Amino acid sequence: MAMYVQDFAEGDKDQKDLLGGKGANLAEMTRLGLPVPPGFTITTKACRAYMATGEVPPELRVEVTMALRRLEDEVERQLGDPYDPLLVSVRSGAKFSMPGMMETVLNIGLNDASVKGLAAISGDERFAWDSYRRLIQMFGKTVLDIDGDVFAAALDAKKEARGASSDTDLTAADLHELVDEFKAIVLAESGYPFPQHPREQLDMAIVAVFDSWNTDRARLYRRKERIPNDLGTAVNICTMVFGNLGETSGTGVAFTRDPASGQPGQYGDYLVNAQGEDVVAGIRNTLSLADMEQVDPQSFSDLRAAMRRLETHYRDLCDVEFTVERGKLWMLQTRVGKRTAPAAFRIACELVDEHLITMDEALTRVTGEQLSQLMFPRFDANDSSRVLLTKAMAASPGAAVGAAVFDSEEAVRRAALGEDVVLVRRETNPDDLGGMIASVGILTARGGKTSHAAVVARGMGRTCVVGAEKIDVDLATRSFTVGKRTVKEGDTIAIDGSTGEVFLGAVEVVPSPATTYLERGLDAALEQAGEDEDTRALVRAVDRLLTHADAIRRLRVEANADTAADAARARSLGAQGIGLCRTEHMFLGDRRVLIERVILAKDDTQRQDALDALLPLQRSDFEELLAEMDGLPTTIRLIDPPLHEFLPDLTELSVRVALAAERGEDTPEDIELLAAVRRMHEANPMLGLRGVRLGLVVPGLFALQIRAICEATAVRLAAGGNPHPEIMVPLVGSVQELYLVRDEAREIMADVARERDVSLDIPVGCMIELPRAALTAGRIADAAQFFSFGTNDLTQTTWGFSRDDVEGAFFAEYTDNGVLAVSPFETIDARGVGKLVQIAVEEGRKARPGMTMGVCGEHGGDPESIRFFHAVGLDYVSCSPFRVPVARLEAGRAAI
Ligand code: PEP
Ligand code: MG
Repeated sequence: MAMYVQDFAEGDKDQKDLLGGKGANLAEMTRLGLPVPPGFTITTKACRAYMATGEVPPELRVEVTMALRRLEDEVERQLGDPYDPLLVSVRSGAKFSMPGMMETVLNIGLNDASVKGLAAISGDERFAWDSYRRLIQMFGKTVLDIDGDVFAAALDAKKEARGASSDTDLTAADLHELVDEFKAIVLAESGYPFPQHPREQLDMAIVAVFDSWNTDRARLYRRKERIPNDLGTAVNICTMVFGNLGETSGTGVAFTRDPASGQPGQYGDYLVNAQGEDVVAGIRNTLSLADMEQVDPQSFSDLRAAMRRLETHYRDLCDVEFTVERGKLWMLQTRVGKRTAPAAFRIACELVDEHLITMDEALTRVTGEQLSQLMFPRFDANDSSRVLLTKAMAASPGAAVGAAVFDSEEAVRRAALGEDVVLVRRETNPDDLGGMIASVGILTARGGKTSHAAVVARGMGRTCVVGAEKIDVDLATRSFTVGKRTVKEGDTIAIDGSTGEVFLGAVEVVPSPATTYLERGLDAALEQAGEDEDTRALVRAVDRLLTHADAIRRLRVEANADTAADAARARSLGAQGIGLCRTEHMFLGDRRVLIERVILAKDDTQRQDALDALLPLQRSDFEELLAEMDGLPTTIRLIDPPLHEFLPDLTELSVRVALAAERGEDTPEDIELLAAVRRMHEANPMLGLRGVRLGLVVPGLFALQIRAICEATAVRLAAGGNPHPEIMVPLVGSVQELYLVRDEAREIMADVARERDVSLDIPVGCMIELPRAALTAGRIADAAQFFSFGTNDLTQTTWGFSRDDVEGAFFAEYTDNGVLAVSPFETIDARGVGKLVQIAVEEGRKARPGMTMGVCGEHGGDPESIRFFHAVGLDYVSCSPFRVPVARLEAGRAAI
């Protein structure tokens, strides 16, 4: 039983862990009887064995030999045979598609002897030398790590010398010369001659693929996409078929639907007389599939049939790479294709309408992240000041405004300083990945919708415009020109990834159709869409999928909102309540002096006066909030942060007092204030006098807030409203703390009910945001009518990471070296912090069956965390208003 190698004919699409995505899908296509050139896959297990020891396992060499022999027998040719050579391609293929890795070396098996055999057998000398120069070029770049520009420059020089406008204009003799030049480059740059032995070429290429798993850019990509570092990649060895055998040959990339808009209808790019990398690199501009139909109707119709078969089989949008060799179609790759956010929504619904998938499945085909991309604003078509530079291909939607930059380093440098940048390149290649991540948008002069830039940008959700042929990028002067205009590095440009437009300067933005739908409903969104069919289809799809998510989700979605305006926005976006109103925000601005007076009061009377002044203000805050949230739960949290946050900064005040003293000025108020600030100063305020501790230490503060809530409720009731306030106590660690606050709350509630002649039964609950609270939740539930998990503080205190300092300090290092896959402040750490949540849910519900529980930390809006909260049995998640639709969708997905 082979351990490390599997023939295409043996596998299937479900073996992605072992065969990688490409290998598994090649196997599946082979099983389906589609025309796949024979070959075999070296498994990820082999890569992992290599990574563990740094050595190619001896068994792998043996298994490669056996597989190669089987292949040679099947095609009746031998690798690198001088008279009739079998040539193979070597292509990486991890479980998840990864543009950061080495992709492909074609034409392995060619050498000084077999190139002649290939020429004789094919009857095409030019083709044979072209194939050989491609091998040396690709091998040099990807296996020997020689700068690709050196080869490209030699090729350009040759074209110039021959007056050739395209590489297809070079003759066999030109290409033969170029092969010699390329071999000289290899020797000069690597110190070794280009390997002539076919098996040596193959073995070196396999090791290069293994090594490419751990390059910086592959690691960067994995970090960004949260792909584990230890999966390893598979390597696919496939019989070469040739798209560069003249006018009846070619190569292309196609999609079963438009991956940008989701429009039905097959879609793709085709290049006559070319090999695969020419299309993806965007080196020459391509033909559309409709043009291909004119050029080669038979291959086109075979391709169309194969694509239809694939889409029906995978029941999803597929993309394919194919080659036509002298009129015969070959399928080189397929996968469920990447798509933009609008396309994802539209395709999911259309597949339902075609009865290929169910509505539940459709919901699994879209993500909250995609929905949030749809909510990005758009450029305003009515902004009359906009200056259109050019219009090219819309490759990935969005409206990006930023400073033009011309290389990856500059993009990264400026982005680190907080600047928005648009990366402008002639074409992108995998080395640009860092810059693409750092940019808000990407613009290229060459390439089609399937070029590297387009594919990667789509995958990352970055705005991207490609193939802007009218722009002339000049790296030397770091500028580009369009007609008479010149745009220099740092100049602001704006690109529209939905229309392909490129503007000089910034452009006004307007809400996206999805946002209009979410805030104002379907009719308003359709009206905004006008006659634009793509947009109409999109808003309908968002409506259908979100409606379905709402129908099947168990989790309620509430919002964190502190003001009536935020609450209104949240409600319009579908929030079913306020899960957290942080009342401390109501003490900022003009009101800061009032709270300062509470803190500085010399006696009870002074303090009570200050509190009395705050009461009407708080009451009206709550009245407004409760009016906005009429009929829905409104959880108001008592003041949480340390009091010193409401006092002046210690250092600034010390300086002010010292300077005044030096000038001989008398500033008793400042001196008194300084004494108070010193008194309040804490080395670790996050672990200090805050939350419930503060409420118990500063007399009257919580009482003021509770009274304001009760009175506001009474006012709303008197006005015929339907208020549902809840009082939430922060940072509880012991049930005793909560008893004290709860008893006080009950007294105040009874007082206000009596005074105002209403009946008040406002639930009092607490946040679970300290490990001790989670561990003693059974006891705390005795005093709490509800729990809300404050996963920000719970993460901070469980890990001992300061939530205010940690991100910059060492998280980058920690994600680099694999200690953390992702910040635990972003996605709940299910094993640690999540375990505490789970314990608290179980203990709490044991003590108080049916107790309402939710989460109001930032995790409430994070897709992966939402799944966890669903699984652990919470009743609701609460997140910032603009995340509410995302949470609705993800809560629906979690329920499937
Ligand atoms: C929390 O700690 O998760 C929380 C919601 O409270 P805050 O962020 O205000 O500390
Ligand atoms: Mg907190």
